[in-house]
Amino acid sequence: MDPLKVDIVVVGAGPGGYAAAFYAADRGRQVMLVERDGRLGGVCLNRGCIPSKALLHATELMREAKELSPARGITFGEPSVSLEKLRAWKESVLAKLAGGISALAKARGVQVLYGRGHFEDSATLRVETSEGQKFFTYETAIIAVGSKPAMPQAFDLGNPRIMTSTEALELEEIPKELLVVGGGYIGLELSTVFATLGSRIVLAEALDAILMGLDADLARPVLRYAEKHFKEVRLGAKVLTMATSGKQIKVTVEVAGAQRDEVYDRVLVAVGRTPNCANLGLENTKVTQDEKGFIKVNARQQTDDPALYAIGDVVGGAMLAHKASKEARVAVEVITGESSAFEQITIPAVVFTDPEVAWCGLTESEARAKGIAVEVAKYPWAASGRALSLDRTDGLTKLVVDPQTERILGVGLVGARAGELISEGVLAIEMGATAKDLAESVHPHPTLSETLMEAAEMFYGTSTHAIARKRNALTA
Ligand code: FAD
Repeated sequence: MDPLKVDIVVVGAGPGGYAAAFYAADRGRQVMLVERDGRLGGVCLNRGCIPSKALLHATELMREAKELSPARGITFGEPSVSLEKLRAWKESVLAKLAGGISALAKARGVQVLYGRGHFEDSATLRVETSEGQKFFTYETAIIAVGSKPAMPQAFDLGNPRIMTSTEALELEEIPKELLVVGGGYIGLELSTVFATLGSRIVLAEALDAILMGLDADLARPVLRYAEKHFKEVRLGAKVLTMATSGKQIKVTVEVAGAQRDEVYDRVLVAVGRTPNCANLGLENTKVTQDEKGFIKVNARQQTDDPALYAIGDVVGGAMLAHKASKEARVAVEVITGESSAFEQITIPAVVFTDPEVAWCGLTESEARAKGIAVEVAKYPWAASGRALSLDRTDGLTKLVVDPQTERILGVGLVGARAGELISEGVLAIEMGATAKDLAESVHPHPTLSETLMEAAEMFYGTSTHAIARKRNALTA
């Protein structure tokens, strides 16, 4: 059978792949989007960002009703949770979004082919579909096959009680005793969901901090929450082995040099993600991978094979949906002849715990580690009228400022809805805004966004609602 010819083929329809396909079509290119799942949207939509945030929202409602509302004179009865209905609601959100992506593909004339892609050589893709194999030649291919949860061999018993985030989000049951291995954002977000639903969580993190790399003052409120709502948060705890023990899992853990055996109803392993490069036929192309298997690309998203570009989780770096979508734009712009590059781009990060944490640009700890001179201005949410009216004073807004130019180099927020606030920080950094720009931009009252303005005012010692220890002169 002669292969069919396409202009651009995109393999993988996550936030990297479908964004690339849509953008290329918007720029007048003929595009085919290949996806092995039965639904578009990738990990983010189907088993990542969206289902986790849907469940976090539902459970946040329970916490607010139970913990904050009584002091306001409003009390609710004990909540009754129907896992079946919760799952159905979550599924309805995903189905609506996936349907929307399909409709957008159709409206743009993007040809969607469901099947598994495999590179035969640098110019040919074989797709295994439910109707058999199809072969395509192309001018350019964009590899956007994403990643999957890492499962260390010692835990990989084939026992469904040992879950990754994928199974945990299916919400089959609420385990009584749940061990969560990994104190990164996925482990923490899912622990927050299960703790509210009633699981007794032990969170084990091998390192000596949760959310490794995050400034300690931003991580602290999240740790405090976890210590209050989980059975235990164990830092410096290494989970060594797991074994099936009837309907439970026996786990050997090492804490402070001593080993002990414990038994859990279920275990959630959230120790990182690995790229989906197996059985992709990369060995038939000139694409190269690093020691962890991520595809090597330059700043223009070009692999070592001139016909192949790669974007998203499969190239490593910040494994976030919006990073994948930005790389998609860079790749398409390079393919269509622009001089774009993924350089000097501010990628915000949000952890949707309670409270949320969000940051972008240079962090204080990174500046210290690299010996970059910075000044830090902080505004505590205890001084925010909006935070008080929400009963959420457990927040902090901080700016990392260049002391010479007063330019904003980094922004960090911890607090309710921090994820909705961080984009102002991204804009400030991207536009080269100074602390003065932020201080002089009028922010609406009463909102949490005012904390950004007041943090900038703290830099000059002129915050209306807080006293700054140090003053930089604010010149007209
Ligand atoms: P993916 O979304 O992984 O998509 C890749 C697609 O390629 C998949 O649909 C896969 O089926 C398909 N594919 C793979 N191999 C082939 C093949 N051979 N042929 C055809 N198709 C193939 N990120 C955020 O920014 N915010 C969040 O809040 C957030 N929360 C998360 C929560 C969880 C629990 C998890 C697991 C992840 C979360 N992420 C979040 C990360 C985010 O999901 C990923 O960074 C993002 O999905 C990466 O996009 P991608 O397009 O690179 O790949």
